[in-house]
Amino acid sequence: MKNILIVGGAGYIGSHMAKYLSTKDYMPIVLDNLVCGHRGAVKYGPFFEGSISDSNLLQKIFSDYPISAVMHFAAFCYVGESVKEPAKYYRNNVADTLALLEVMVEKNIGNFIFSSSCAVYGEPVEIPITEDHPKRPISPYGRTKLVVEQILDDFREAYGLESICLRYFNAAGADPDGELGEDHNPETHLIPLVLKTALGQQPRVDIFGDDYPTPDGTCVRDYIHIEDLARAHLLALERLLTCLPGGAYNLGNAEGYSVKQVIEVCRRITGKEIPASVVERRSGDPAVLVSSSEKAMRDLGWKPQFPDLETIVETAWTWHKNNPNGYDT
Ligand code: UDP
Repeated sequence: MKNILIVGGAGYIGSHMAKYLSTKDYMPIVLDNLVCGHRGAVKYGPFFEGSISDSNLLQKIFSDYPISAVMHFAAFCYVGESVKEPAKYYRNNVADTLALLEVMVEKNIGNFIFSSSCAVYGEPVEIPITEDHPKRPISPYGRTKLVVEQILDDFREAYGLESICLRYFNAAGADPDGELGEDHNPETHLIPLVLKTALGQQPRVDIFGDDYPTPDGTCVRDYIHIEDLARAHLLALERLLTCLPGGAYNLGNAEGYSVKQVIEVCRRITGKEIPASVVERRSGDPAVLVSSSEKAMRDLGWKPQFPDLETIVETAWTWHKNNPNGYDT
């Protein structure tokens, strides 16, 4: 059984990844500082509480376990916060990642899978977005992701550290078994906020602008189920473990849903009224973000299993209904 170190494995995507790997005969080993993650989300494999900037701890983990690859989910992810506190984002997302990569090189661990983001593209000039779309991120968050991608290209060249960068569109949904889900504090993402409104935890959903150049005036996004993301990571891992070249891949469903469409689907699935009102635009929101994922389908053999928004919302609703206070329930 191969050991895979999952940094940020107590977070939303990392925790689902650990579970998915454990069902496929890999041993997930989780490292998380629990700043954003939850101890209760770590249900598979050994757990180490600590930071990726703690090189002593990393050395110990790499010495105690033969690690075949590292999957990196330990990043701050709020665009708005990154504008107000760029230092926090560059420190955590770039400097600490660099520290992790340096220990990997020292310990001769040669495979790395990186959670990147469609935020590396910035304002789209073409839809759907392919991997060679211009990369002009418009937030410090997006820039931290792009800088790490560039560091990884340089590390491949100089040290032979092979890597795959997975550029997620809108990760959503929850573990189909209902064991894991999305629990951010504060929550800023659309689907969990709409479902929290359905649970009566907030009076209404704010729709950030309805004057965008889209069919109903609200922003269009490409939502991808968390388990489809996990499967793409497994395929990326297997690509690296069979010594095929790395690179960057978009992960989305190539289909966009507007904010109003998302709210409608949530009303249908929950059977609740879900009040919503239009407010000011949120700054930095492009009108439409839709992925082309042809490259991932072609090179990785990836095919989403849960592409429809109904299933994405259903799995998320099961989690939120059963865990109204998240992992603190
Ligand atoms: N959004 C909204 N109200 C909210 C949260 C989000 O209208 O309370 C919109 C947001 O402007 C964007 C879409 O929903 O167009 C998805 O936002 P989210 O924060 O979930 O993901 P992002 O696309 O920013 O990664």
